[in-house]
Amino acid sequence: MQRGCEAGCLARFSGSVKLLTDLGRYRLVLGNPGESPDFETYTFNANGWLVGWYRAGVSYRCGLDGRAKSSRYATHGGRRFLRSANLSTEELCLEVQRAAQAVALWRDSGDARELPAVLLGKTPAQVGEAFQRVWPRVAILPPDQYAAAVVQMTQGCAYNRCRFCSFYKDVPYRVQSAAEFDIHLNAVESFFEAELSERRGFFLAAANAANADCDVLSRRLELLERQADNHSGWSKCWSGGVASFLDTFSQNERSLEQWRSLRDLGLKSLYLGIETGSVPLRRSWRKPGKPSEIIALAEKLKRAGMRLGVIVLSGADSDFIENAHNAATAQLLNQLPLDERDNIYISEYQPTNVWKDDAEYVEYRSACRRCTEELRAGLRFAAYPQGPVVSLYDVWQFLYI
Ligand code: SF4
Repeated sequence: MQRGCEAGCLARFSGSVKLLTDLGRYRLVLGNPGESPDFETYTFNANGWLVGWYRAGVSYRCGLDGRAKSSRYATHGGRRFLRSANLSTEELCLEVQRAAQAVALWRDSGDARELPAVLLGKTPAQVGEAFQRVWPRVAILPPDQYAAAVVQMTQGCAYNRCRFCSFYKDVPYRVQSAAEFDIHLNAVESFFEAELSERRGFFLAAANAANADCDVLSRRLELLERQADNHSGWSKCWSGGVASFLDTFSQNERSLEQWRSLRDLGLKSLYLGIETGSVPLRRSWRKPGKPSEIIALAEKLKRAGMRLGVIVLSGADSDFIENAHNAATAQLLNQLPLDERDNIYISEYQPTNVWKDDAEYVEYRSACRRCTEELRAGLRFAAYPQGPVVSLYDVWQFLYI
């Protein structure tokens, strides 16, 4: 197999080209992955938009907002960690040229299948432009919600003062009016096209949508359900349920009956940013709420039938060590009534994504990982599938795809 030597250059490729279809995705495979490491893949969603590709040990993902990231293993001292980097506009252009050549090779390969979508009918830049007209920004999602259809019910964070969080610092908080939300839902439907029925559930953005006034939240859920009743793409997505982030301190007075009624309206999963069980650390981070209040809230939400994703931080910085973060956090988590439907996400704190070299990056991540392992060792839940899934949450990897 002869290959081009750089992104954008596939002209001399002469190996096999196959198109696989699976779960609403199309995957072009150039070369023979089982026989040689010298292969490439290009993945397209149900609309034919490029969402990911792989070449020479590096995988790439392209977000709906037109940004793309590469991920590769950084190795040092026998240890390795995934390291991501943003692609520049120029780099992405070259990669898209290469994907276009892969599509042309497939067309020339004699595969006469008529696909419901044109592969690369829109470039990532064109998809990104359309995206910006519908969403101001999708700053972050829980790891198991990357495939949800995000619907923007609020903007920004009503609190917005946690010291470690910069997701919404420049976004004033506001709740979309019913009319705005209605218009937005139609815009979401137009944007997604065929891909909407491949989405798994709805995610109410942004930071804290589930803490909006209960009546407002109920009416927005009703609007969402009405849309699902009237459109087939929405109804498939609706069957995945509605999810949202919820802070652990502003809605502790909401009653069990109110949470049950929200659940009956479709709100099935809540993601709680607990961060730490250490009281001094919470104070230092300006994170309101006490562990006893978090336990009471989680108990109420579970009794209401909600599925929970709880998010805690892990880190090797002095803040974590001096404030006994691991012991206090494990103690708090162990008191939550989590079961096999729930998730515990451990987010390893990385103050930056800019590192001098791989060695510095791997050293930092290794120190963090040792702390994570200590935190995990303090957990007393039964292993999945009897207990909750415990997994890592790398916010630097996030792209809404
Ligand atoms: S409540 Fe959540 S979104 Fe808001 S500032 Fe704190 S961590 Fe960030």
